[in-house]
Amino acid sequence: MQATPDSAVPHAAENRVIEPLYAEILRRNQGEKEFHQAVREVLETLGPVLAQRPEFVDARIIERICEPERQLIFRVPWSDDSGDIHVNRGFRVEFSSTLGPYKGGLRFHPSVNLGIVKFLGFEQIFKNALTGMPIGGGKGGSDFDPKGRSDAEIMRFCQSFMTELHRHLGEYTDVPAGDIGVGGREIGYLFGQYKRITNRFESGVLTGKGLGWGGALVRTEATGYGCVMFTAEMLRSRGESLDGQRIAVSGSGNVAIYAIEKAQQLGATVVTCSDSDGYVVDEKGIDLALLKEIKEAGRGRVAEYAERRAEAVFVPGAGVWDVPCDVALPCATQNELHEADALTLVRNGVKAVAEGANMPTTPEAVRVLQEAGVAFAPGKAANAGGVATSALEMQQNASRDSWTFAHTEERLAEIMRHIHDSCYTTAERYGSPGNYVVGANIAGFELVADAMLAQGLI
Ligand code: NDP
Repeated sequence: MQATPDSAVPHAAENRVIEPLYAEILRRNQGEKEFHQAVREVLETLGPVLAQRPEFVDARIIERICEPERQLIFRVPWSDDSGDIHVNRGFRVEFSSTLGPYKGGLRFHPSVNLGIVKFLGFEQIFKNALTGMPIGGGKGGSDFDPKGRSDAEIMRFCQSFMTELHRHLGEYTDVPAGDIGVGGREIGYLFGQYKRITNRFESGVLTGKGLGWGGALVRTEATGYGCVMFTAEMLRSRGESLDGQRIAVSGSGNVAIYAIEKAQQLGATVVTCSDSDGYVVDEKGIDLALLKEIKEAGRGRVAEYAERRAEAVFVPGAGVWDVPCDVALPCATQNELHEADALTLVRNGVKAVAEGANMPTTPEAVRVLQEAGVAFAPGKAANAGGVATSALEMQQNASRDSWTFAHTEERLAEIMRHIHDSCYTTAERYGSPGNYVVGANIAGFELVADAMLAQGLI
């Protein structure tokens, strides 16, 4: 995955305040290129708000918000089914508790390092603020590769990971959830070990739990559904709808599958999905039951989808963005949609791009899309439905209640409309109408910065 060079200074960093701050962040966090990218993307939009609110500059809000409250790195030893011992590295970055307990997922993937966890944790602060729910920002994970591991190996790894992490968690302190490589199975093993060590059935300490033991309906679907709901709102503001649109989705994990499901429910035809081996094109529209069977039940690869469905073609080793579409939903991982892909999408007439994944679109690609007038939704707005529904799960845990699917989905839809509208109006208020990146960054930042001012120098 390609990232931007460390030396690049923010666009709007002519602003005398932001430029030296960003240079200092590069100096103090060397080699963390995804973190630099995420910080730069936020800072380069904050000029107008800093000009109007000098108290944020005086209180050094940016310096404080870019420095995690706490960063944990720990050893995770475990043994495989043959008895061989492995040592992985665990991370939890507790970035901001300004609005509530640290909240953000755990990622298990061999690429995980401190810079990636920090980029995700940083994004999470603003995303969580945008939901309007009382949750702070954090993120964690490990460079453990779950691919090809047995259930017993996954369980031993999760137990070892939680044996260290549990001392830092709590329903009022830090509440992890899933992310890449961490789904319902892993949350189950993590929760079981937390319960065993602490001797507490503290259901609000993790979200994404099974429905029989504290989980919430719609949590599984929430990120993908929310992303499509946000896309529908963007199109609505341009007098269009999703009905009849042709959609390209990347990824085939949790976010991708439920983005496909909601898009189909709203009358769109989704023609692609992918994994790290390549992508599938299915001109008739993805057969979601088959995809779920392969990916969710069988933990298989998308290549198998094309083997089992005559209408579909598998293209190895390539991304999906060459496939013409009206709407593109990148739902796999960071920096997966590059400038050349954006140029192709624009050439093929794309109208909207919404990030189901975190930071999948490179800054150069975002610029191409925005300059071409494409409606572009950044992940911190478009994929916030997942964490918002996690907060709804925490509400249900606290009140020992469980809500129906329809009620929870309606709450999710309300939250996504609220996020859309607040990004839209904030962008207008700060002189960038239609720019959801500006709207999301400033709306999230103002909420956190105001609360930081109120809470004093901590
Ligand atoms: P999953 O593990 O369920 O699925 C990830 C998908 O992305 C898989 O298809 C995977 O393919 C693909 N992928 C992962 N890494 C790469 C890579 N380096 N190159 C190409 N493809 C890759 O994860 P999720 O669906 O949960 O997460 C997807 C994205 O959405 C991430 O950016 C995550 O941070 C973000 N997100 C997730 C939320 C959630 O609630 N789950 C909430 C908000 C954001 P393969 O199997 O080959 O690795």
